[in-house]
Amino acid sequence: MKHIFGHKNPDTDSICSAIAYADFLNKQNIDAKAFALGSLNKETQFVLEYFGIEAPEQIDKLPAGTEVILVDHNEEKQSIDKIKDLDIVEIIDHHNLKIETNKPISVLFKPVGSTCTIIAEEKYFKNNVELTKPIAGILLSALISDTLFFHSPTTTDIDKVVAEKLSKIAEVENLEEFSLKLFNAKSDLGDISVEKLIKLDYKTYDFKDGTYSIGVMETTNAKFGLDKKEDILIKLKELKESEDLSGIFFTIIDILNEESYTFTSGDTEDALFTKLFSAVEKNNALYVDKLISRKKQIVPVFEKM
Ligand code: MG
Ligand code: MG
Ligand code: MG
Repeated sequence: MKHIFGHKNPDTDSICSAIAYADFLNKQNIDAKAFALGSLNKETQFVLEYFGIEAPEQIDKLPAGTEVILVDHNEEKQSIDKIKDLDIVEIIDHHNLKIETNKPISVLFKPVGSTCTIIAEEKYFKNNVELTKPIAGILLSALISDTLFFHSPTTTDIDKVVAEKLSKIAEVENLEEFSLKLFNAKSDLGDISVEKLIKLDYKTYDFKDGTYSIGVMETTNAKFGLDKKEDILIKLKELKESEDLSGIFFTIIDILNEESYTFTSGDTEDALFTKLFSAVEKNNALYVDKLISRKKQIVPVFEKM
């Protein structure tokens, strides 16, 4: 059986693309199943409950040689531990290509807003494979989540066309209203611990001058994160030490106002971020207007550094 999974600290796109692609393969009589590399965030839980789909089983390791399909990621550091010992047979992703494999495999990469856009368009629609309401619903939700309801600069015309088609099948009549429900579910963090907050959507990258982590908190309630500044700074310093990183950046992305506030693990990182993004001090954080996409706006700047 092929094990399908997205990245660690999974987001809605990682979970829903794995479930949908397993459904697609099962329809071709291929044995495949979706898994999660970590617990589901509130938004993803909301989406799966809303469309009546069971949450995938969580795993953190697999026996060497297991056939796996990676969705929504392809960086070793973001994947399951000891990924090199597994048999990667296929990758579907919308991030930059990073991985090296030791044999030819199937890859499907498209510069679109979500992995679910690729699965809907390139797998279901192009092959005329029947899409049920729940699967269309989760594909649509992930597309909206990853593109921040088309506000992210990662959004393409393909995403908009695919969302339109999916919303008909999923019977979601008011897309804007539905996207607000998603964002409110994502923003409802209650008494979450500071470490969990930082790790909600947290990815590690090998840049030229070191290994850095970048956590983002996409929210309609930036104040929730801003109010925790002191505790966040302490935890960022701790994590930098314990994970042996060159630095950590934690960016609170205000989805509705399209702006962001960043905290870092130290003065050097503060200075670096300020220089790279022309950040200014606002609400006691490093403020950058219109900086809302880690993938398209933040990571590329670090890659060039
Ligand atoms: Mg993702
Ligand atoms: Mg994605
Ligand atoms: Mg995302």
